[in-house]
Amino acid sequence: MTRKAAFIYSDILSRHILREDHVMQPKRLRYTFELLDAYGAFAFQNSRLVEPRKANRSELKPFHTDDYISAVENLSEGLHEYSASKYNFSDHGDNPIYLGMYDSALLSTGASILAAEMIYNGDVDIAFNPSGGLHHAMPGNASGFCIFNDPVMAIDYLVSKGLKVAYIDIDAHHGDGVEHAYYSTNKVLTISVHESGQFLFPGSGSVNSIGTGSGLGYSVNIPLHPYSNDQIYAMVMSDIILPIIDKFSPDVIATQLGMDPYFKDPITHLGLSTQGHNQLVRSLGSACSKWLAFGGGGYDLGAVARAWTMDYGVMIGEAWDDNVPEKFKGNYGIQRLSDHELPSISEEMSERLEQFTSSTMREVKELVFPIHSI
Ligand SMILES: [Zn+2]
Repeated sequence: MTRKAAFIYSDILSRHILREDHVMQPKRLRYTFELLDAYGAFAFQNSRLVEPRKANRSELKPFHTDDYISAVENLSEGLHEYSASKYNFSDHGDNPIYLGMYDSALLSTGASILAAEMIYNGDVDIAFNPSGGLHHAMPGNASGFCIFNDPVMAIDYLVSKGLKVAYIDIDAHHGDGVEHAYYSTNKVLTISVHESGQFLFPGSGSVNSIGTGSGLGYSVNIPLHPYSNDQIYAMVMSDIILPIIDKFSPDVIATQLGMDPYFKDPITHLGLSTQGHNQLVRSLGSACSKWLAFGGGGYDLGAVARAWTMDYGVMIGEAWDDNVPEKFKGNYGIQRLSDHELPSISEEMSERLEQFTSSTMREVKELVFPIHSI
C-alpha cells in the first residue's frame, strides 16, 4: 500500500554556518532537497513538501532546563550574561556559538515536532525532517554539534498522546541524549547501533547499558567495530533490531538516519555504503505503518544527499534511477545514487569483524532478549 509522506524543509535550514572550518555543514540539506527535486520527488500525489515551524520555548521543556534555554538565547545574540563553557560551547570546539543559533535550533526542532504532529493527526503516515536527529543534546548543555534534542521533543509529543514509540538510531555515534531521556521508562524503546565508544565520541553506548527500573531492557546498544560494512549491519538488523521492534510493537517508529557510518565519512571509521544504509532504512520503514524520520550526522556531503534521497524514495514508494537526472548530474560531484566502488577489507579484518559482532550480538541477546520474551 502506498503511504503518504511529508518532507519537512525550508532553505533557511541550510543557510547557517556553525564555523567556516566546521565539519557539520547544513548546506548538505540543500543538496538533498535539490537532488530530490531533480527526481520530481515532490510532484507525486502521496508526497508533500512542508515548511517547518519554530518550536515554542515551552515545547523544549521538560527535557531542557530553563537556564540552558535562556543561555542559548542569550549567547546566540552575542551577549555574555551566561558563561559559554558551562553549557559546553566554545570557539574552537564541537559546539561553537554562532549568531542566530537559537532561531536555527528552534526551527530544526520545530520541524521534528511538526513531523510528529502530522503523523498523529493522520495528515501523513511518514514524515522526514532531514534537519533533525540532533541526538547528543543534553538537558543542560550542547554536545556533539547538537543544541536542542529534537528527537526527544517529537517523541515526547507522541508519548503525550498515549502512543508507544520505538526509536532506532543508525548514526555512527551513540544516541546518548535520546537514550538519557528514556533510560528509566518502558514507554519508549531506544536502540542505537553505532561505532563502539572504544573508538569514537561520545564513548558511551556499551552493550550492558540496557536501561534501569521499569526501563530495564528498553535501552538497547549495539556497538560495532571500525570498518563494519553492509553485511555486518544487515545481520544486526535482522537478528537483533527487527525482532525487538516486533516484540515491542510500537504505534510509531522514530528513526535517526545519520549517514556518518559511511565508508568515506571524514570523522568516523565504519564501512557502510549508501545502498547498505538504504537497505537498513527499508527494513525499518517496513517494521511499522507510522514512521517519523530524522536526519542526523553525515560529513561526506554528497553521500548524505544521495542516501537521504534514496531514503525518501523508500518513504513514498518510488525507486529512483541510479543515474541521477541529467539536469543535476555532476552537481556537488554526484553522478549516481549508489556506491559502485566498495572498500575492500583484508581477510584478517573480516575475521575480526565477525568475532567482534558475534560477541556483541551474543551479549545483547543474553541481556535483552529474555526481558522481551524473545
Ligand atoms: Zn554521528
